[in-house]
Amino acid sequence: MTLEGKKIIIIGAGFGGLSLAIRLRARGAHVLILEKQAAPGGLAQQIKADGFTFDMGPSLITAPDVVNKVFQAAGKNMEDYLKLIPLDPYYRIYFHDGSFIDYSGDTEKMKEQLSAFNPKDGKNYEAFMETSRIMEDAVMKKGLGSKPIMTWWAMINFAPKAIRLGLILPAYTYVKRYFKDMRSRFIFSFHPLFIGGNPFKAPAVYQMIPWLEKEGGVHYMPGGMYSLINAFVNVFTEMGGEIHCSEPVKTILTKSGKVSGVQTASNQYPADIVVSNADFYHTYHDLIEPAIRKKWTEKKLKNMDYSMSCVLIYLGLNTKYEMLKHHTLIISRDYKRLIKDIFDRKRIPFDFSMYLHVPSKTEPEMAISGGESLYVLIPVANQLSGQNWGDFKEEFVNSVLHYLEHTFGLNDLKQHIVYQSVFTPEDFQTHRNNYLGAAWGVEPKLLQSAYFRPHNRSEDLDGLYLVGTSTHPGAGLPGTLMSAETTERVILNDLKEK
Ligand SMILES: Cc1cc2nc3c(=O)[nH]c(=O)nc-3n(C[C@H](O)[C@H](O)[C@H](O)COP(=O)(O)OP(=O)(O)OC[C@H]3O[C@@H](n4cnc5c(N)ncnc54)[C@H](O)[C@@H]3O)c2cc1C
Repeated sequence: MTLEGKKIIIIGAGFGGLSLAIRLRARGAHVLILEKQAAPGGLAQQIKADGFTFDMGPSLITAPDVVNKVFQAAGKNMEDYLKLIPLDPYYRIYFHDGSFIDYSGDTEKMKEQLSAFNPKDGKNYEAFMETSRIMEDAVMKKGLGSKPIMTWWAMINFAPKAIRLGLILPAYTYVKRYFKDMRSRFIFSFHPLFIGGNPFKAPAVYQMIPWLEKEGGVHYMPGGMYSLINAFVNVFTEMGGEIHCSEPVKTILTKSGKVSGVQTASNQYPADIVVSNADFYHTYHDLIEPAIRKKWTEKKLKNMDYSMSCVLIYLGLNTKYEMLKHHTLIISRDYKRLIKDIFDRKRIPFDFSMYLHVPSKTEPEMAISGGESLYVLIPVANQLSGQNWGDFKEEFVNSVLHYLEHTFGLNDLKQHIVYQSVFTPEDFQTHRNNYLGAAWGVEPKLLQSAYFRPHNRSEDLDGLYLVGTSTHPGAGLPGTLMSAETTERVILNDLKEK
């Protein structure tokens, strides 16, 4: 279906906004993206300083097929824009007792390592992966994940399949059926953390990720994740799309109960359709008059649960550490208590679990010669913690660095730091407009998934749509790109019906 003659404004140039912009422009719409920040990319911004390059947010590429579909929608070849390098292992995961696993898609290596934890775990690996495959097939290949679920009827169609596949059980509960050792249970249930969710509450649908990783691999792009942002921007602008950066939208304008455009500090832009890629709470609370919001009232917005946040420490090092892989996870002694602190008690933990990204392991040019570009991601509670990070940042960062140097074993770490910067939950709020600094938006949990997630078509305003992390199906690069496919489908159906 062609969208010739339609004027569409997209608020935000994250992966969601950019990929939807490409899809709609490919159908002939006039598409303008208005972005608050000085550069496109959203959470996937990049820092270049003192000879080091850091992706600020996403770092792991899974599901290259989903990425490829965006290029296909534009009639382009992904290979002309991007190179993907498969990683092996996908990650190394260290446990508090010093043991570790090199997690990959290699069945024999995985069975051998899991058997060392508990012989039953090695035996059950293939049975678990088969259920992961079935979930992935239903959600990704058969399209359960990219079908809009905005009516009870769609939910009634969706629910029996989801229940049959066990998708609605809590992730950790699901995994306990297969694995005995705490370490194995962690390895196959932590994935919700990658998208801001609580592994003890997020639905088991995320257990499709181990199969997604095994089948499609985990990849790196030379230049880092920002190469994908650059590729999307290039495709979009080559097709005649427009992006205005440093132009935050202040208000979504309406006329006779329908969207009519947007207002920025300097301009008013008329539009037939507006799509928000910005944070869900920010979109409804700050950009739409309260009188228009029948569904997303103040009370409803506040009653939603928002994801965890994180502290990111970007370190330029003048040395290398053999114990780090391209992706490394370090799991704390009391992981369950840590998750409770983050999600339930909203306390800032000092018993750290963390994720380390070292792209210079694969591409040395990301760091100075002989050095390493390292980012440390420490999951923490969102700003319901009431933490003032201005005062506290230094103390927190020092204790993380102390832990890495003296407990984990990165010898003389502090001495080797030649560049350092930090991004806190407050920065997510200020720079990205993420309510409560919740870095992954609306928390992925059962009663905030599918029908219960903010819909791709606004429930409050005709002509307004959402794309990205906080709408269906959810966060993560694959989820966000699939949300663009879903929102495109909803827009096309709505226009057909008119
Ligand atoms: C630290 C971190 C690590 C992650 N790692 C991974 C990973 O390894 N792999 C993976 O698949 N996923 C990962 N994710 C998740 C992934 O990054 C996100 O799901 C995805 O980038 C979200 O894209 P988006 O388009 O929904 O939103 P965003 O990237 O948040 O983009 C929204 C855009 O809207 C703009 N905006 C906000 N308000 C306005 C306004 N009023 N006017 C104009 N513009 C506005 C913002 O500036 C921003 O550019 C990670 C997330 C984080 C936080």
